[in-house]
Amino acid sequence: MAASLRDLQCFIFDMDGTINLGETPIDGAKDLISFLQTRRIPFFFFTNNSSASPEAYVEKLQRLGFSGIGREQIVTSGDVMAHFLKQKFSHPHIYLAGTPSLAKQLREQGIALLPPDTPSADAVVIGFDTTFSFEKATVACRLIAAGVPFFATNIDRVCPLEAGAFLPDCGSICAMLEHATGVAPKFVGKPFAETVDYILAKAGTPPERTAMVGDRLYTDIATAKNGGIVGIAVLSGEISQADIDASPIQPDYTLFSVKELYEAIR
Ligand SMILES: [Mg+2]
Repeated sequence: MAASLRDLQCFIFDMDGTINLGETPIDGAKDLISFLQTRRIPFFFFTNNSSASPEAYVEKLQRLGFSGIGREQIVTSGDVMAHFLKQKFSHPHIYLAGTPSLAKQLREQGIALLPPDTPSADAVVIGFDTTFSFEKATVACRLIAAGVPFFATNIDRVCPLEAGAFLPDCGSICAMLEHATGVAPKFVGKPFAETVDYILAKAGTPPERTAMVGDRLYTDIATAKNGGIVGIAVLSGEISQADIDASPIQPDYTLFSVKELYEAIR
């Protein structure tokens, strides 16, 4: 049995559907965050989106009225990738297809980025690259075909926009490269265990006292299950109790929203 909610020592929050709905904070979210801040209970906001900078999420949370959030409390699939690379290689030298902000984020964490004419690399890394080009595809294919390991930040096929529109995401760029080379990538963001490995290394809390809170079973709750931490589903976003009843992925707790979490632990 999972730890009681009051015994949890670290929380990882999904954002949209859990903390906010678009530009509106979910009822109780601000109370919960300020309670955690007052009690010095560590918490992080996690996003699979590797195209925007962590600083952009700090600004967004500030705009929504969450105060005192720092860069170190934002975790993106780009941060997970940096940690994964540093565990695999002592001084990682990679070929990256990513946005300028992902490139900056990886460089800041000690990852060397190689130019397009590089003869080899420790790895090819693909992000949600809204600046992707045919040249980047060509270089990535050349290196992957030569046996360079193929890693990617997040498995998402699409990034939803307003009104049913979407952008092709990292998973779709990777499908093209996999089709060309016959090599499948290793993804690291949600729902893979590398995401939890990174957060546990950062927070230093025991897995059974660390919780992922989110509104999607196949990403948020699957991350908790794959990483061996506590999964808390909230019904404030995508899923209903009926969806949970029908799913093979079962959360440890199901709550109406973060407001119920706040009321349980305060
Ligand atoms: Mg969500």
